[in-house]
Amino acid sequence: MGADVVATVGTDLYIGGRFVAASDGERFDVDDPATGRTLASVASASEEDAIAAVSAATDAAAAWRSTPARARSEILRRSFEAMIARRDEIAELIVLESGKSWSDATGEVTYAAEFLRWFAEEAVRAEGTILPAPAGDKRILTVRQPVGVSVLVTPWNFPAAMGTRKIGPALAAGCTVVLKPASDTPLTALLLGQLLSEAGVPSGVVNVLPSRRSGATVGTMLRDPRVRKLSFTGSTEVGRLLLEQAAGQILNCSMELGGNAPFVVLDDADLDAAVEGAMVAKMRNGGESCIAANRFIVQAGVADAFAAKLAAAMGSLTLGPGLDPANDVGPVINEAAREEIAALVSASASAGSRVLTGGQAPARPGWFYEPTVLSRVDPEDGLLDHEIFGPVAPIVSVADEDEAVAIANDTEFGLAAYVYSGDLARGLRVGEAIEAGIIGVNRGFVSDPAAPFGGMKQSGLGREGAHDGLLEFLETKYLAADW
Ligand code: NAD
Repeated sequence: MGADVVATVGTDLYIGGRFVAASDGERFDVDDPATGRTLASVASASEEDAIAAVSAATDAAAAWRSTPARARSEILRRSFEAMIARRDEIAELIVLESGKSWSDATGEVTYAAEFLRWFAEEAVRAEGTILPAPAGDKRILTVRQPVGVSVLVTPWNFPAAMGTRKIGPALAAGCTVVLKPASDTPLTALLLGQLLSEAGVPSGVVNVLPSRRSGATVGTMLRDPRVRKLSFTGSTEVGRLLLEQAAGQILNCSMELGGNAPFVVLDDADLDAAVEGAMVAKMRNGGESCIAANRFIVQAGVADAFAAKLAAAMGSLTLGPGLDPANDVGPVINEAAREEIAALVSASASAGSRVLTGGQAPARPGWFYEPTVLSRVDPEDGLLDHEIFGPVAPIVSVADEDEAVAIANDTEFGLAAYVYSGDLARGLRVGEAIEAGIIGVNRGFVSDPAAPFGGMKQSGLGREGAHDGLLEFLETKYLAADW
């Protein structure tokens, strides 16, 4: 492994099957969060480039939507195989630009590729219906058609998977796309564009548009009447802004937004299993995941024992750059993110939380922060209102199941939640009472391309993965005909 993988990736805008410089020559640097070193200089799309990308996607749209579903499916299947064959190379790029650990990066490549396989299988299942009209004299026919040119906007925390989770269903449905990746991690997206083209995706079907001027480029596309769909993954704050902009043209919107996942441990839980699940739910991706356990809500009788076991597990993790597979936890994405995490921890500690392990940024290059466990957190101290997005586990103790559910639901977010109980019926009951789109019952790992992923409340609209993910890129048309 080395920095050579970066040299193999195109660093211009990928429009209409070609790499092109930004219209005004603007570029921006992409840095390695583990070292601070600049990895590459990438073209920064202008508003003019955004229009060019929409033109390329529009020009390719008619041929792609009329390409037989089986042919689209086979291209997606070849794309899946290409990703798996190049797993280590893609993982290396992900580590370099996002800072995650080697096992998280290789896990992400597999997860990302699986969306292409799943939607290769779903491409041939855009089913319609025939229903006898209730009056008995007519038939109601429905067919599903691709929604049209789609703008995809993705975050930095899963540079490959957030792309394929949208590109897979869009292409399966017959839509062409412009992908605007996060500016911290555009290289993986550019590699993905190249890889899809090599696997047979026709020019213009997938365009990749890195830009430091996200507001201007995305805004331009959302105002363009040729665009019909916005699929966004990122913060609730930006999501809200984009929904307002999408209202201008009544765009079809799918929104995967922020989370603040509760992790409930009831007093009959197997504590070792709960800690094992907690380590996955908290530490996958170094805590930088929208479904990361963000608030540990533990019944009082087991709270101190759970906290001690979790602190021992968190304290045993090795911090270091992800290119060394021996390191468990990489840096957070950038300096601002680390400062925010450090400020949240010190405010909570000043308010009376106990720091059982971690609580410091180690003195070394890169944006590292120690895996941290805070116990006896006061639910009112403000920490629980924040999506921490880092390796910090705050623990609150509660008297009973009702209080656990009340605290779990005391948030505007509703993406994921976790419940541990020795009694499955009790776990399911609590799971049903928590207002979230994804509930792990005695499980800390819930992501699966075959499962519907998405949030309630201000965590979003729509679902990705499963058959639902395909439907997000299809529209239902009702044909009323006299037979
Ligand atoms: P972000 O909202 O800052 O950015 C997301 C994307 O939007 C990036 O491509 C960014 O360049 C772009 N963007 C930013 N401002 C914009 C603007 N004004 N107009 C148009 N585009 C703009 O989020 P982030 O920091 O990249 O990612 C972290 C957030 O994403 C967290 O809140 C996390 O929970 C969320 N997330 C959600 C899911 C999910 O499936 N629900 C998955 C991963 C991450």
